[in-house]
Amino acid sequence: MNVTYFCKTCDKVSRVPFDTSAVAVHCSRCSAKQEFPSSFLGEDSEGNCTLERCTICGSHELYYRKQFNQRLGIGIIAVGSTLSTIAYAYHNLFWTFSILFAFAGVDLLFYIFMKNLLQCYKCNSEFRGFDESPEYKPFDLEVHEKYHQQRVRLERAEKEQQWLEQRAQQQTAKQADDEPADNTGR
Ligand SMILES: [Zn+2]
Ligand SMILES: [Zn+2]
Repeated sequence: MNVTYFCKTCDKVSRVPFDTSAVAVHCSRCSAKQEFPSSFLGEDSEGNCTLERCTICGSHELYYRKQFNQRLGIGIIAVGSTLSTIAYAYHNLFWTFSILFAFAGVDLLFYIFMKNLLQCYKCNSEFRGFDESPEYKPFDLEVHEKYHQQRVRLERAEKEQQWLEQRAQQQTAKQADDEPADNTGR
């Protein structure tokens, strides 16, 4: 298995392999230690070893999606449609459609044979190379929205806190400026 996560120490995305007995990983860029929760594995009804929670933030809410490289997928379609447009310009309908279908077919095959990855709703960490299990759930917009709102609220609270601190600093600075003036007035 491997995990792709955002390292808070170096502010970069890091991908590191780990096995089922791992208790921590080290960032591939800055080697900062990332502790794992004490238990993150489970077993489904078929006896497969499953990832129960995100090893980075500990959240239990994960969803699976295809490891499909969207840029590659769009690239294939773009090349296919360019070639079929050329064939169309030469009034060759057979090649126009053959090329179009062939490239769409390649795209579909890529999609079908791509493995799944698990992603954490809360911290967006990605997990690859795990056993497939019917217990993993697909993306749920409602859960995603819940975490999105949480992030927005947290960011807003942080900004408010910063603003309050700035204001407090300004006030103390202003008081320090005012004090000598008071003394001379006396
Ligand atoms: Zn790092
Ligand atoms: Zn997470």
